[in-house]
Amino acid sequence: MVRVDNFLIDKGLSPSRAILLNPEDVPVFRQKLADFGWSHPLLDELGVERENGFTWMGGNFDDLGLVVMVRSPQIEEANGTAYTEATLLHEKAHSAHAFDDLIYTKAGTNINYWVPRHGHGIAAKAGSEGAFFEEGFAELLAAEYMKEQMGMPNGVWDEDITVPTKTGDDLPGIYAWKVDDSKFLYANSAIAAHGLELLMVEKSELYQALLKARNSVEGLRQVAQVVDSVEPGLYPKLRKLSYSEAGFSEGLHDIKSALSE
Ligand SMILES: [Zn+2]
Repeated sequence: MVRVDNFLIDKGLSPSRAILLNPEDVPVFRQKLADFGWSHPLLDELGVERENGFTWMGGNFDDLGLVVMVRSPQIEEANGTAYTEATLLHEKAHSAHAFDDLIYTKAGTNINYWVPRHGHGIAAKAGSEGAFFEEGFAELLAAEYMKEQMGMPNGVWDEDITVPTKTGDDLPGIYAWKVDDSKFLYANSAIAAHGLELLMVEKSELYQALLKARNSVEGLRQVAQVVDSVEPGLYPKLRKLSYSEAGFSEGLHDIKSALSE
């Protein structure tokens, strides 16, 4: 955990603390928080397998000032602890931002808390906006961390491979995790991270702007300006994309077509 924190602190970021749970601890943890009247839809999904076969093992809870990570024996058996460490880095990257306003709603006996802005993500009428940049940023740093701090330039693979996404895009192997000998998985965030990576080939200043955006509105503006300098209107298009594989793939395609013109 110290290595994860130091990597972020060296970039001028201030990550939240984290707790690491075993799967059987999750319901106990959830209940303890519910006893205080706290609930969060994201906490309910933690450790539960999703439709696409991906199980969400970590989350950043801004209102608690805490990152919660669940260790998966199955994932660790196939990938070692690299998955847990890289995911911890991803969630801690989300936690590092200076926007800490808090709003809440009451549902039944529980109170739901939310922050209007977390990094690039903002609560909007239709769900939220900015997920493409927020998720892409966190996953991009996780990949950088694996390459630089964990000595895993190809992620969990022996060589520099790419894996196909559902929409037929090539995704660098560093974003993919082993399930068994024939299957692999990647997070939706990986598609957004790859999109940002492609933008950075042409606009290397995007990286510093993304870091600056964690702590200042000026940084957020710079991200918008750099992205729009590739193609006017590209930033608002990407910002509105939904947090889904389809949404992020659409963004990746928008980036590819903007770069090819
Ligand atoms: Zn994320």
